[in-house]
Amino acid sequence: MQDKDWALLESLASGASEHKSPEYWLKRSSEVIATSTQSRDLYPVMDHSRGQGSRVYDLEGNEYLDVTSGVAVRALGVRYPPLVEFERQIAHVVEELPGQDFDHIPQVLLAEKLIGITPGEFDKQVFFTTSGARAVETAVKSAMDNTQRTRFVAFRPAFHGRTGYALSLTASKGAHRERFPSALPVIRAPYPYSYRRPRGLSPDEYAALCVDQVEDAIEREGADVAGIVVEPITGEGGMIPSPASFLPRLRAIADRYGAWLIVDEVQSGLGRTGKWWAFEHYGVTPDVVCTAKALGGGWPMGATIGRGPMFTRGSRHSETFSAEPRQALISLFVLTEIERKGYIQNAARMGEVLSKGLRELEEKHDCVGEARGLGLMQGIEIVESKQSRKASPARRDAILKAAIHGERLMLLGAGENTIRLLPPLNVTEEEVRDALARLDRAIAAASRAS
Ligand code: PLP
Repeated sequence: MQDKDWALLESLASGASEHKSPEYWLKRSSEVIATSTQSRDLYPVMDHSRGQGSRVYDLEGNEYLDVTSGVAVRALGVRYPPLVEFERQIAHVVEELPGQDFDHIPQVLLAEKLIGITPGEFDKQVFFTTSGARAVETAVKSAMDNTQRTRFVAFRPAFHGRTGYALSLTASKGAHRERFPSALPVIRAPYPYSYRRPRGLSPDEYAALCVDQVEDAIEREGADVAGIVVEPITGEGGMIPSPASFLPRLRAIADRYGAWLIVDEVQSGLGRTGKWWAFEHYGVTPDVVCTAKALGGGWPMGATIGRGPMFTRGSRHSETFSAEPRQALISLFVLTEIERKGYIQNAARMGEVLSKGLRELEEKHDCVGEARGLGLMQGIEIVESKQSRKASPARRDAILKAAIHGERLMLLGAGENTIRLLPPLNVTEEEVRDALARLDRAIAAASRAS
């Protein structure tokens, strides 16, 4: 390595390299980083060397209040001091012992912990992955292997990831799917999107209608269903919590047809909604639960917790990087810390403050059609007016811009016209109120500009 490369590495390790402008890095990013989900007119180039709790920084040194948790990844906030310290303590632990080839204690303890927090009076096993989509792939393969069937029920909108089987189940935006063929036979049914329900129906009546469509489709398209895959509350699809009766009725259908109920908790799980799992709000017990994001403590990590035995024989599924010892310890730390510090209870309490504040914004601003969510997984749907209910992606984007550029509030979009808030589980009331005030001002600024 040349001296100048080494000097750059050292400067990057200790702080963002100041010798080039933010515009330079923005340009180089657009040239060398493949197009994915970036919105470069919205998000600045971030400073990787700074950040604490709910605060992140851009290269110009601007501080942002972050209510995205890195899309629900950093459940404990940025550089959570006890985790930073724990990572230092375990620096000597071997980082790579392929967990699916070699047994080791950390992954067994982590599996036990995940099984322990997952309801269901039946034998469970855990398969470790490195992403949410892979956790869904695992669930699908486990269901196919066990039921000897290949057909799945999935919903619209739904987001389960962008690889193979997971993408086949996803139906959120056309761009995700166009010209990528489905790898599975999928029966698609409408998700009970209450805000958009037909006039005259209650949310539960509409949920019943959606479930009737599932049953009708199963009867007409084929009852050889391996699994019903569902998010208890959609994330990318628009932050839509399912009505009370939906999951229980899906559970009944799954039982009737001998299919598995597979719940995707990649975004909603691990305390975010005020319970370990969002499905616990609905009193159902799924056969399989998919998790990722928060589980890794900031590192790539996912898991599928399923009916054991998850596979009928060896080599049906594997991943080189899975629950490496150091990663397993970090994940175990995250779960233990969430429990020990009462962060699930905090998520429930702060979720109420956030939800109440967002409902006030709904009352105050004509362009906020609906505020909705569970715990610290909340969203507001932006419309042209309350009366028309017409989706307004342009207004949503203008609000995001006003929030991020004007108010330094880091937010995310979801679906076509929803704004998504996913603060860390240890967020304080002051931070929630600050975020609400900034969002209020951003909505007002975007309305004035339109
Ligand atoms: N499932 C849900 C509900 C998600 O929200 C996501 C990602 O946002 C995924 C699956 C895919 O996870 P990953 O991006 O880690 O593959």
